[in-house]
Amino acid sequence: MNFDTLAIHGNDHKRNAENALNPPIFQTSTFVFKDLDHVEDVMSFKSDDYVYTRGNNPTLRLFENRMRDLEGGKGAVAFASGMAAISSTLFSLLKPGDNVIVHKTIYGSSYTVATKLLPKYNITSSSIDLSNPETLEKALGRDDDKTKVVYFETPSNPNLSIVDIRRICTIAHERGIKVVIDNTFATPYFQKPLELGADVVVHSATKYICGHGDVVAGVAVAKDMNYIQSLKFDYMAEFGGVLSPFNAWLLLRGLKTLGVRMRQHEKNALKIAGYLEKHPMVTKVMYPGLPSFEGHETAKAQMSGFGAMISFEVKGGLESAKKVINSLNLIQIAVSLGDCETLMESPAAMTHRGYSRERLAEFGLSESMLRISVGLEDTADIISELERVLSLL
Ligand SMILES: *Cc1c(COP(=O)(O)O)cnc(C)c1O
Repeated sequence: MNFDTLAIHGNDHKRNAENALNPPIFQTSTFVFKDLDHVEDVMSFKSDDYVYTRGNNPTLRLFENRMRDLEGGKGAVAFASGMAAISSTLFSLLKPGDNVIVHKTIYGSSYTVATKLLPKYNITSSSIDLSNPETLEKALGRDDDKTKVVYFETPSNPNLSIVDIRRICTIAHERGIKVVIDNTFATPYFQKPLELGADVVVHSATKYICGHGDVVAGVAVAKDMNYIQSLKFDYMAEFGGVLSPFNAWLLLRGLKTLGVRMRQHEKNALKIAGYLEKHPMVTKVMYPGLPSFEGHETAKAQMSGFGAMISFEVKGGLESAKKVINSLNLIQIAVSLGDCETLMESPAAMTHRGYSRERLAEFGLSESMLRISVGLEDTADIISELERVLSLL
């Protein structure tokens, strides 16, 4: 089956006596056993029947299986949030004395996990520029045996930098290092990191997977089934960041339109990026679909589309950025992304507050940078709003 069909029909639920088109929401905390022999079969994994929703639940399993197939993995684990997926995955792959290499620009909370939480457990991290694979080779040198994980997003948050997945995986795997990729911005519709070499893909399913801004959720997908079992039962279930059955059901609903939405999101984003690039008050547009963008060629080689996240800088620094954002009507000021509504935010003031001033400057995240999550409204309306606010500068 192809992507759009899989997103709707993959692993269809067993229809019950009522023959409902849609799967039921198994809103239950626990499951009932027939007798102690049944208990024994389930507890020894001879049967994959259910025990307790913190371990698994049919609505969660349906969502996990659908994500597994869309990402081309062997198994998936659903989580209560993207951060639950990311922190559990990192804790599952690292132990005291290890090091994790992260790309210099990643989601703010992921940066906090790497630079503040992991060090409390004697796990160090280094933030380097993975958009240049040679930086990784240099960082690993000849005798770095501490690094066990390379972690990044591509396109990355908030400046859309592109990391060459194949190259990074080759360098890491030569040294037995695992590669974990946050595929939130691209979604499996535009990019399949596992097929390009990654070991684990993580998502904030809160974003495009859900698509309607009404769920917080996460998921991890991997090619190694033993790893998935461990991530599910030793980390997700024990740390306890389990997704609720109702939210899994909303995600299944969101997935049905993922392809349709991503095609339209991208179409809109290409128009808006083109408009911004020509605007005299805009000094820089960061969008992988623009031929002028640094990572454009790599993006073209590893993605089937460029997504709908755009960042841009305006003339006049912080004051101008403030004026733009404070004058919005149709476009909403909000963190998060991937919704039907177009959202704008200031990474320095909002999503990337966790980065120090020095780090923001060093990583090229200027105070005048604004990030747009292009929604599904008519682009003529979004552009006329941008035209109005930019004309105030
Ligand atoms: C939102 C986001 C996260 C965190 O996900 P939550 O669902 O908010 O916990 C992680 N990575 C990226 C790229 C994100 O956009």
